[in-house]
Amino acid sequence: MQPIQVFSVVPRLPENLKPLWDLAYNLLFSWNGNIVDLFSRIDARLWRMSENNPVRFINSLGQETLEELSGDELFLSRMHETVDELRAYLSRTTSVVDFPGATPGQPVVAYFSFEFGLSPCLPIYSGGLGILAGDHLKSASDLNVPLVGIGLCYQQGYFRQRLTPDGWQHERYPVYDFEQMPITLVKDADARPVTFTIDLQDRKLIVQIWKAAVGRVNLYLMDTNIPENPPEFRQLTTRLYGGDWEMRLQQEILLGIGGIKALAALGLEPRIIHMNEGHSAFAGLERIRLFMKDCGMSYEAAVELAASSCVFTTHTPVPAGNDRFPPDLMQRYLEPYARELGLAFKVFLALGREDPRDDAEPFCMTVLALRLSRFNNGVSELHGHVSRNMWKRVWPQFPTEDVPIGSITNGVHHPSWVADDLAVLYDRYLGGNWREDPDCVRVWRNAEAIPDAELWRTHERLRERLVDFVRHRLRQELLQKGARRSEVEAAEDVLDPQALTIGFARRFATYKRANLILQDRDRLMKLIGDSQRAVQFIFAGKAHPQDNEGKKIIQQIVQFCREGNCRPRMVFLQDYDMEVAEYMLQGCDVWLNNPRVPLEACGTSGMKAMANGVINLSTLDGWWAEAYRDDNSVGWSIGRGEIYDDPRHQDFVESQILYTLLETEVVPDFYDRGHGNLPRHWVRRMKNALVELGPMFNSHRMVEDYARIAYIPAYQNFVALTQQGFQAAKDLAQWRMDMMTKWHGLGIRHVTAQEFGEIHVGEPVSVAAEVRLNGIAPENVLVEIYSGALDQDGQFSQREAVEMKPGEFVEDGWCRYSGAFKPVAPGRFGFTVRVLPRHRHLLDPHSLGLIRWAE
Ligand SMILES: *Cc1c(COP(=O)(O)O)cnc(C)c1O
Repeated sequence: MQPIQVFSVVPRLPENLKPLWDLAYNLLFSWNGNIVDLFSRIDARLWRMSENNPVRFINSLGQETLEELSGDELFLSRMHETVDELRAYLSRTTSVVDFPGATPGQPVVAYFSFEFGLSPCLPIYSGGLGILAGDHLKSASDLNVPLVGIGLCYQQGYFRQRLTPDGWQHERYPVYDFEQMPITLVKDADARPVTFTIDLQDRKLIVQIWKAAVGRVNLYLMDTNIPENPPEFRQLTTRLYGGDWEMRLQQEILLGIGGIKALAALGLEPRIIHMNEGHSAFAGLERIRLFMKDCGMSYEAAVELAASSCVFTTHTPVPAGNDRFPPDLMQRYLEPYARELGLAFKVFLALGREDPRDDAEPFCMTVLALRLSRFNNGVSELHGHVSRNMWKRVWPQFPTEDVPIGSITNGVHHPSWVADDLAVLYDRYLGGNWREDPDCVRVWRNAEAIPDAELWRTHERLRERLVDFVRHRLRQELLQKGARRSEVEAAEDVLDPQALTIGFARRFATYKRANLILQDRDRLMKLIGDSQRAVQFIFAGKAHPQDNEGKKIIQQIVQFCREGNCRPRMVFLQDYDMEVAEYMLQGCDVWLNNPRVPLEACGTSGMKAMANGVINLSTLDGWWAEAYRDDNSVGWSIGRGEIYDDPRHQDFVESQILYTLLETEVVPDFYDRGHGNLPRHWVRRMKNALVELGPMFNSHRMVEDYARIAYIPAYQNFVALTQQGFQAAKDLAQWRMDMMTKWHGLGIRHVTAQEFGEIHVGEPVSVAAEVRLNGIAPENVLVEIYSGALDQDGQFSQREAVEMKPGEFVEDGWCRYSGAFKPVAPGRFGFTVRVLPRHRHLLDPHSLGLIRWAE
């Protein structure tokens, strides 16, 4: 029997406890320990059972407890202090980031993402991409960047993992009750839900919006699960990464096109759109449509305006990881949309094709995003490089290093990820600034001042807490499975709170090679079995429901854990999520990360570990390629970032390196104890990492980078382009068309360098060339000497571009240009000359795709 209606019944909160709701409905609790303290002191056990969810927690407090609290003066005064702290945080207006002329209180940037990982109690994330988005919002809040988040509200979130007795992953999909979460349904003045509609194949999809307050930033989550929608539409926001390709396309239409509509329905007008991964690339199209419809712009001018104010971050260095839709599926959903943009469908599809002329090529969201954004970036230096290679076909005229995809390395939100116990130490020795200004080198230098013993004892306490947590979780798992009592009791003895603890937890994508350590089981068993210098491993992670290879790796590890004598020293924790991550990243000694280079775009869990004094042991991929120091002073590297042709050989070689490192460096260092049982070398390394890496690998630095490099220039450009009835945008579009038609007539000839005698490092070499501008004004081109050292194949191994200045006209249309470059190092050196378009509103001269090289 199904009930006809469902209610949420909540306790009656005494009037003087109402401020608790303010604390519960702002996700600031996820990075402010005082708020959590307040809740957990009411009822620690209940708090622990509420999965860090204050709304559920308050709703499950008994009426009696509430009455008691309401008369407890001490509690009330603590509550008021905490609420005051929240209000003070919310009202602070200072910011390091300035958008001149922006309306105060209005967001300037809208950050679109398929997933957001903010707190374990809002399970709308699957892994690194979502956590990054969550940390981005938190840092934007701390830094007062006027930003708003846009995402989807998944009723069943991402799946919960449960393993069968033989280690096979099963997925569970609990149905979450939004009323019991720290989010609120957005309503209008008449208390009716704010909704809007999207046309989806001749039908109307109705969307409502939930709001999550993330400190000073709002995150809006779209929800289609409402009775007015037909069942197949209601399912659209059921699961993250849950459906088939058709549902994925519908979800991406919802996120991109719907996201822009949601902003309008909310009365928000952010100027800048930041697309976190290609899932939201349709947002660019919707803006183009609106600029055409509402502002009377041509398609071309609207594209200029939309792209100039769009920032795109790509995350996926694996071609298969980028969404690609078959043309016929696209046609079913987007043909009418293309018509509205005034585009023939073939032209529309070309926007998402690497080769616009290839009719068979599927429509790739990443390509669309790259074409609709004038600022593109990867998420580490190495990934920037990989991305330029991967997407060079979108800009076929350019040498790979000139493909307009830069990089901004990811960071993590320290106040969210640093353990409370350590935070106390940081507060004392680093000062409160490590929370507000973590990219400050001076702040982290103070980590030197933390007494070794204090740092080590705190770390040991966190390891004990982790071991406790693991035992508790294992017990719960076993009880749920109905295991024998002896087995449940044995769970109390797993792991050793004193032993060297190595953690590995992340999504079980095959390239991450969770099973690398299993390559040579004898060598592994020797490490685990050493009773003097014990080593133990904790694994956790989910495989994507359709990824059987990933599931097999989980099974391998689980079965190994169960085999004979390694049981107490090797465990697999079920259902990896932010909470499990927190315990592991704070309590392990070593964080193991061995992806196949260069497939990890950045990796962020290692940064969280580092901020907690956990030492990284990793292949030189993603962020670690930037962070690692050759002398092993901040952590260890597995290999030197080599890329192998034969993956099996690579696994063999790298696993051997890994065992040797463990045997000869990691274990001996950990157990090299001096006075007071302190591992001096180990603590030295912990501090080195904090001092050297702390200022760089945090999300405040990251968000400031985005603001400085992308948001602010794009914002200023947007303002300039839209003045006087969008005149500059229209001019820019006109200019672009003009360049497109005249460009083919451009010529370069008579490239000459000064007579070469001996050339010395650092001495200028003059270059002259003649350029035919074909009616293009000289101020509209950039003529450059392109020079650099050459590799063995005679290709540029690095390069520098120097501008050349125009001189006199030599004959009809040919103009003389001159300039000079300086070789910076001895060796073989080369140069050439090239011409690029230039316009003051074109932020990146490469984005037009026009270039001419000397021949
Ligand atoms: C940080 C984090 C990740 C990302 O980890 P990677 O090292 O990038 O793989 C994934 N899941 C959770 C729960 C995290 O906290």
